[in-house]
Amino acid sequence: MLSTKPTPQSARALQDHTTVRHCKIVATVGPSSSDAATLKTMIEAGLDIVRLNFSHGDHAAHLAVIETIRRLTNECGKHITILQDLQGPKIRCGLLMQDMDLQDGESYTLVYGERQTDPRVIPVDYDGIFADLRTGQKIIMNDGLLAFEITAVSAAQVEVKVIDGGVLKSRKGINFPRANLSLSALTEKDTEDLLFGIANGVDAIALSFVQTADDVMQVKKMITALASNVPVVAKIERLSALKDIAAIAAASDGLMVARGDLGVEVRVEKVPAYQRKIIAAAAANGKPVIVATQMLESMIENPLASLAEVADVANGVLESADCLMLSAETASGKYPVQALRKMVAVIDAVEHWTLTHRNVFATPQRQACKEQVTAWETHTAIAAAACEAADSLDAKAIVCLTLSGSIAASIARWRPKTPIIAISPRQEVIRRLNLIWGVYGVQNPLFYKTDVLLQELPQTLKGMGIVQSGDMIVITAGIPIAQMCPTNTIKINKIS
Ligand code: PGA
Ligand code: MN
Repeated sequence: MLSTKPTPQSARALQDHTTVRHCKIVATVGPSSSDAATLKTMIEAGLDIVRLNFSHGDHAAHLAVIETIRRLTNECGKHITILQDLQGPKIRCGLLMQDMDLQDGESYTLVYGERQTDPRVIPVDYDGIFADLRTGQKIIMNDGLLAFEITAVSAAQVEVKVIDGGVLKSRKGINFPRANLSLSALTEKDTEDLLFGIANGVDAIALSFVQTADDVMQVKKMITALASNVPVVAKIERLSALKDIAAIAAASDGLMVARGDLGVEVRVEKVPAYQRKIIAAAAANGKPVIVATQMLESMIENPLASLAEVADVANGVLESADCLMLSAETASGKYPVQALRKMVAVIDAVEHWTLTHRNVFATPQRQACKEQVTAWETHTAIAAAACEAADSLDAKAIVCLTLSGSIAASIARWRPKTPIIAISPRQEVIRRLNLIWGVYGVQNPLFYKTDVLLQELPQTLKGMGIVQSGDMIVITAGIPIAQMCPTNTIKINKIS
């Protein structure tokens, strides 16, 4: 028998494919949600991926969450993916003597330093960036509330004039929207955090403030040197990353539309179009994409979401993102469980419509598959045929017997309404597939005994509540499995 213990909830959710959730949910875990009871409730409510935000919290706190998640995973038989989000080269102002009330038109000097020693000078905690700045460029502080224009630059200091004044407090973030800064991809803290994450078995890494594809490649090199192949999600939150988006999408294993910082670097009204651009770049490269930040922002304080927030979540589903993310809503908000339930409810409602009116939507992923039709390989052809068959037979599942998981990802690119059940012996593959739209992983140690596996499959799927007698399923496999062939077969079964 397959070694899966689906929760009653997941079994119910899988019974009718028009109510299976295809878009996955990432929730940031923090003080509001790190206790076992809350995490368990969130897992039961539909959480797929836990984000540990290494901009906050110490290693002991993160380790406690990792251990709780792994224990709960064993208890309820649902695979939860752990995404370690590295802080990256976030630039901040130093410790101020007191809050500064900046008036429009005033002049200030920026210098490298941890502490303010002169009220006309603002310390910046990152060394060696001034040479990359130019007169006339803007500098933004405090999440976009304060803006400055550069009036003079030297290697050691920058003169600025206040354009949008207000109060500046210690340790607030600083953005340099137009500059190509010579920042390392990983800070010393990031390297330490990465070592910690890999040693403790995180499933994926998110890299903040990526500027170029080279940043991603550097980090991947370091991961390889640590004898790991954990996937890297590039967070797109800098203008320079948008310019290099195709190469970054090719170099990384996934993208995140990091709208919080992106909205500070570019004007907020530009964020929705950039969101589409980033999703399209991920789709063209067959990589998953996460839409993040402020999705249900008002639920940090209130138990109800606004209509605008519901529409924003719905838009992420309509743009067929692989995952949507909750940040402060679940990490530090007052209503973490309600926020998660709201996101589940909105995704369910929108998908109920999109999956039954599928042909109305030209998703960027499906479009990318069609455009690459001349470069089809066996794999791509099998993925297309499996979706076609599942559609015309109204199959209840596309079952992939897969070692690496790559066929499940190929099938997901066609955005079929039929859920994709990926059966693999490898736990890390199952957990990584969690990041992909429509894919549900099942770990099975008997993978290599093909005959046994295929014989038992109907019973297993019935046990999971996915199929009933008389239902059709489409199976893909590399046969003979014992020889670890790449996928070469489509089999169609009617469940007896
Ligand atoms: P953060 O990244 O939450 O780590 O800042 C996401 C974003 O900027 O939107
Ligand atoms: Mn960010």
